[in-house]
Amino acid sequence: MRTYGKSRPTVSASESAAPDRRHLGFQRPDAFERDLRERVEAYFQTTGISPRDQRSMITKSVALIAWVGILYSVVVFAPLSGWSVAVLSALLGTSIAGIGFNIQHDGGHNAYSDRIWVNRLSAAALDLIGASSYVWRWKHNLQHHTYVNIAHHDTDIDLGLFGRVSPDHPRHGFHRWQHVYIWPLYGIMALKWHWYDDFHDVATGRLGARRMPRPRGWDLVQFVGGKLLFAFLALGLPCLFHPWAKVLGAYLVVDFFLGLSLSVVFQLAHAVEPADFPQPDPGSGEVGVPWARHQVRTTVDFSRGNALVTWFLGGLNHQVEHHLFPRVCHVHYPAIAPLVEAACKEHGVPYLDHGSFGSGLASHYRWLKRLGLPDRT
Ligand SMILES: [Zn+2]
Repeated sequence: MRTYGKSRPTVSASESAAPDRRHLGFQRPDAFERDLRERVEAYFQTTGISPRDQRSMITKSVALIAWVGILYSVVVFAPLSGWSVAVLSALLGTSIAGIGFNIQHDGGHNAYSDRIWVNRLSAAALDLIGASSYVWRWKHNLQHHTYVNIAHHDTDIDLGLFGRVSPDHPRHGFHRWQHVYIWPLYGIMALKWHWYDDFHDVATGRLGARRMPRPRGWDLVQFVGGKLLFAFLALGLPCLFHPWAKVLGAYLVVDFFLGLSLSVVFQLAHAVEPADFPQPDPGSGEVGVPWARHQVRTTVDFSRGNALVTWFLGGLNHQVEHHLFPRVCHVHYPAIAPLVEAACKEHGVPYLDHGSFGSGLASHYRWLKRLGLPDRT
């Protein structure tokens, strides 16, 4: 059953309390999906460029890590006034998000290199900046990327009680104002992720409607070691040089800007007006379209022509390309975007693009406002 329509009624809390936990299925790959793959493969073959192991990624990684290292050292070790610490902490939080966008995200998708150890190492950058790379692998890599925008299966769109971005999540009266109050909540998203969500997910062995094997062996060592190392870097080490209240204040500023940066970039790709929120068939679990069409209908690009945005966001403004080719290093997205767009056009698949960051942000604002109202019209 195809259920891509946008005019279904609002879901009540009781209706959404028993989500479909079964496996969801896509239709077989169609001509559109085959054409997409052929075009992109032909690009790499004719140019002789490798989809991964790009020198520019090494340069970018070194630059970002050095920049974050310098900022961190200045904030922790330099004798600064409170306001200087606050400003630099905000910059540090935004810069740490850059490590996530560029290094960890590519590594986590095995898109950084053909060498597994390089990908594992770059993916582990997430543990260093507070979140578990193990949980991320299940939550983002498998669930989000497979079941984009399908409620209870894509837990990346589950913002909890106070945020409603899917029409299939329950609506509460206070959601009427979510377009106003959500922004500071985005700021505490990283804090919650680091100190609650990861532990909750590992303890319960669940991600939304789906199971997640609890980490064992080296994965468990990395999970615990990562949390301890992050706690030491974020709080322990600075407390050796500054009063704890000042350290806590700076830490909260860093985490606020980290959370805000990560949340806004994610929301612009999926929680916006043009993106679809499909419902699988309640009986068969069929999504109703092939995988590639599902990815394109649920994902929106923004600021594709802005090289600076593409550089800092690790190509996450090219989310359509990322969702179709997650194992291709993000430095190639600007080159393959026209190929994807042309294939979409020929096969009658809408290619969704906001144009600018501002129009994407405005669309997310309107979507929040619309989902906060009782009826979805
Ligand atoms: Zn991804």
